[in-house]
Amino acid sequence: MDLGLQGKNALITGGSIGIGEAIALALAQEGVRVGICSRDLERGEASAAAAAAESDGTVRAFQADVSKESDINRLASEVTESLGSVDILINNAGTGSEETIIDAPDAKWQYYWDLHVMAAVRLSRALVPGMRGRDGVIINNASICARQPLYYEPIYNTTKAALVMMTKCLANELIQDKIRVNSVNPGLVRTPDWEKTAAILGPKEGITAEAYLDRIAKEHTPIGRFATPDEIARFFVFLASPAASYSVGSTYYVDGGWLNVAG
Ligand code: NDP
Repeated sequence: MDLGLQGKNALITGGSIGIGEAIALALAQEGVRVGICSRDLERGEASAAAAAAESDGTVRAFQADVSKESDINRLASEVTESLGSVDILINNAGTGSEETIIDAPDAKWQYYWDLHVMAAVRLSRALVPGMRGRDGVIINNASICARQPLYYEPIYNTTKAALVMMTKCLANELIQDKIRVNSVNPGLVRTPDWEKTAAILGPKEGITAEAYLDRIAKEHTPIGRFATPDEIARFFVFLASPAASYSVGSTYYVDGGWLNVAG
C-alpha cells in the first residue's frame, strides 16, 4: 500500500532511541526526509546514520533540549534550512518521573510541563507557518498514563494529560489550514529504558530482567507482552499519512488492551 508519504519532510523530537528512533526509520523507509533531535548529538548522529543506511533515505540529526525555548527556535530554523519546510511534526521527546505531589518541588513540575507540553506548543508555533498549504500533520506522543495513571509518576500523568487536551485544542485551531493534529497513547513499549529498569528491579525481586518484564506485561496487559517500538512506529506512520485524512483531534490508544475502560 502506497501511503503517499514520499518526498515529505518530518521532524521527530527524541528520535535517537526508543519509539522516536523506530518512527524515524519507518518514515525514512516510506521516502520521508527525516530530522531527529536529541540532547546527545553523538547518539542522534549514530542513530540517523543507521536509519539512513537501512532505508536508503535521508535522516539528519540535530542537537536540542526541547524543554528550552531557545533550543526550540534554533532547532526549527536549522531543520527548515536543512530539509525545507516541515510537513510532519512528531512531538515524541519525553520521560517518566517518580515523586509524590506533596514532596515534589515546583521546579520539577516546571521541567515536565516544558518538556511534555510547551515543547509541543513551541514547535507547533515555530513550524505551523511553513506547514500551511502542505497538508501538515502534527502527532503528539502522550501515554496511556494521560488517562490511566501509574501511582508513582503523578507529574508524568498530569503533564501527559495536558498534552492530550492541548492536542484537541490545537486540532480545532488548525484544521481550517488543513493541518491534522492527533495524539497517540502507547501502553508498554519495550525501549532501552525499560530494559535498564528491569535489569535493576528484576534481580532485587530474585528474578531475571526478562522475567521481570514478562511479569509487568502479564500483570497489566490483556495481550500479555510489551509492544516493540516498531509496532508503535507503524501506527504513527499511518496517522502521518494521507491515508488517515479523516483522523483529526483524536487520541489513539496503542496499548495491547491495557486501558481499563471502553472508548
Ligand atoms: P526513550 O527514553 O527511549 O527515548 C527518549 C528520547 O527523547 C531520546 O531520543 C532522548 O534523547 C530524547 N529526549 C529526552 N529528553 C529530551 C529533551 N529534553 N530534549 C530533547 N530530546 C530529549 O523514550 P521512549 O522511546 O520510551 O519514549 C518516547 C515517548 O513515548 C516519551 O514521550 C514517552 O513518555 C512516551 N511513551 C513511552 C512508553 C514506553 O513504554 N516506552 C509508553 C507510553 C508513552 P536524549 O536523552 O539524548 O535527549
